Amino acid sequence: MTDLYAVFGNPINHSKSPHIHRHFAEQTGQDMTYTKQQVAPGEFDQAATEFFDKGGKGLNITVPFKLDAYSFAARLTPRARRAGAVNTLALQTDGTVLGDNTDGIGMIHDMHNLGWELRGKRVLILGAGGAVRGILQPLLEQEPQEVAIVNRTHHKAEQLANGFHDLGDVRALTLEALAGQQFDILINGTSASLHGELPPLPDDLLAPGACCYDMMYSAEPTVFLQWAQTHGAAAVADGLGMLIGQAAEAFYLWRQIRPEVVPVITAMRRQMTEKNQNHK
Ligand code: NDP
Repeated sequence: MTDLYAVFGNPINHSKSPHIHRHFAEQTGQDMTYTKQQVAPGEFDQAATEFFDKGGKGLNITVPFKLDAYSFAARLTPRARRAGAVNTLALQTDGTVLGDNTDGIGMIHDMHNLGWELRGKRVLILGAGGAVRGILQPLLEQEPQEVAIVNRTHHKAEQLANGFHDLGDVRALTLEALAGQQFDILINGTSASLHGELPPLPDDLLAPGACCYDMMYSAEPTVFLQWAQTHGAAAVADGLGMLIGQAAEAFYLWRQIRPEVVPVITAMRRQMTEKNQNHK
């Protein structure tokens, strides 16, 4: 029988997840369908219960339901517990539902695919929202020399640093304290890119050979990646590989098969570029 999966969110029309999982299913020969479902605010529990009652095997969860999914799961993986949010639900053989968070590991795998080394590196993260919380444990497991977090609302950066300091050298910095410091890896985890904005960064922030990653993805370089290119970054990447990487980890949790991400990233990048050119 064909196994049923879906992504829940609101809005959901823009979601690329069905497309990505179709690629994975074809590539690995899995008999599964994957749909997207818009869920009304306050109706997550009911919709998820109905989905699993009718034989659904797993869900991806996107904005604004990652906290609802966290509460819904009967059990949590350690990384989901640390992230405080769930983006993947998986039906277990005993009938219970496991909650995981694959966003962070998706980004780490993307950096590995890009050939970026994290061990021993000085990492600066911009932003202290849900996405940054989700990447901190997998990032600290790579044993960087240090992780600094800068956020517009400073106390949120401090809260995050306090919540993860047992896993490595992680601290909150103010924007002013960045003066005179240099980093090897910069990660933009703010949603400022969505509005074409960028926190005011010192001109000499990038160490020689620095790599810059924007969690947001788009057909054209984000404002942050444009800044990186004009300030001497050796390599830049946006979050398309993270999106596909988190989907691959969810797929692995559900099917115990690891799909290849690089051909899917290449195909989707080409589609995004072509679509963008057609709109010009
Ligand atoms: P949240 O709303 O939880 O957090 C937003 C963060 O951005 C906060 O730290 C906020 O600061 C900061 N911010 C917003 N606007 C500005 C601004 N104008 N200047 C400076 N800082 C700003 O969002 P998420 O953490 O869920 O998402 C963050 C980004 O990550 C988004 O671009 C999202 O698309 C991307 N993302 C990508 C994924 C992928 O798979 N590629 C997965 C998940 C997220 P403050 O605390 O002061 O409000």
